[in-house]
Amino acid sequence: MTPLAATDSAIPAPALYRGRFAPSPTGPLHFGSLVAAVGSYLEARVNHGEWLLRIEDVDDPRTVPGAADGILRTLAGFGFEWDGEVVVQSRRIDHYHAALVRLQLDSFVYPCACSRSEIAARTGTVSVDGGLVYPGTCRSGLSEGRAARAWRLRVPDQEFCCIDRIQGEIRQNLERQVGDFVLLRADGQYAYQLAVVVDDAAQGVNAVVRGVDLLASTARQMWLQQCLGLPTPSYAHLPVVVNAAGEKLSKQTRAPAVDPANAGTLLASAMRFLGHPLPPELYAAPLPEFWRWALANWSMARVPAVRAIFPGSAQ
Ligand code: GLU
Repeated sequence: MTPLAATDSAIPAPALYRGRFAPSPTGPLHFGSLVAAVGSYLEARVNHGEWLLRIEDVDDPRTVPGAADGILRTLAGFGFEWDGEVVVQSRRIDHYHAALVRLQLDSFVYPCACSRSEIAARTGTVSVDGGLVYPGTCRSGLSEGRAARAWRLRVPDQEFCCIDRIQGEIRQNLERQVGDFVLLRADGQYAYQLAVVVDDAAQGVNAVVRGVDLLASTARQMWLQQCLGLPTPSYAHLPVVVNAAGEKLSKQTRAPAVDPANAGTLLASAMRFLGHPLPPELYAAPLPEFWRWALANWSMARVPAVRAIFPGSAQ
């Protein structure tokens, strides 16, 4: 028997880490999104990986004109450096359409005629993200005279398990805790769940680091990846910043914009929030010095495994 050539037995090179930050341009960058940007960026860089940017403006009614440019300018002002072109979801509608067609051909999705009030009249079961579990009314076909409003993905009565790199083991039964969920909305917009799965795969993202508010979406995204034959990335959900009332910082809770003029203080707060307090002598350091320290000291293991933190005077 001829011995194997060195190349035949060579161990394949490990895949390049590819992470991303995917802000929705529903308003300016606030402290909560800065924390997600810092965590995803440092984790990508310490793994010698890429950090991609994607503007998630697929939800047209919530998109604020000019917000995407403002977010990019702000990120640059904080010293973030991203790889490649910025992907913009509103320019990728054809890809979401193609994915939906594929799901239609495979009968993974079905048209649904239910309005919100009809769903509310049929179920009282609250879903993992505070909505209602879809009771499956249109699952076996539309009733006579009913017109399709949306397209829903069938979900299995099966427990999904994900080992989140920060939050640990997460289990969710999609049928009982979410129900068949919408991929194409009644207003003609593709849903976040579909766009995020299509785009993470198209961009080759293999490591997702984002806020814990999206933890409950992970099982839906894993199921959608399976239906479309796409790989599942690793997931790490960072704690989210809440205000004194316990609400997540967002445009809805009037979170103030972060200003690169205060980059040093804000980055120090973000690092403290993520379990990496800065040495006092670095408080007033120039940005390159801050980033050098952050890269040399970042460890995901130090990020607190909690869902929410009220940082008090952080911003
Ligand atoms: N666009 C989402 C947000 O701004 C993030 C989606 C994700 O990271 O999967 O909250």
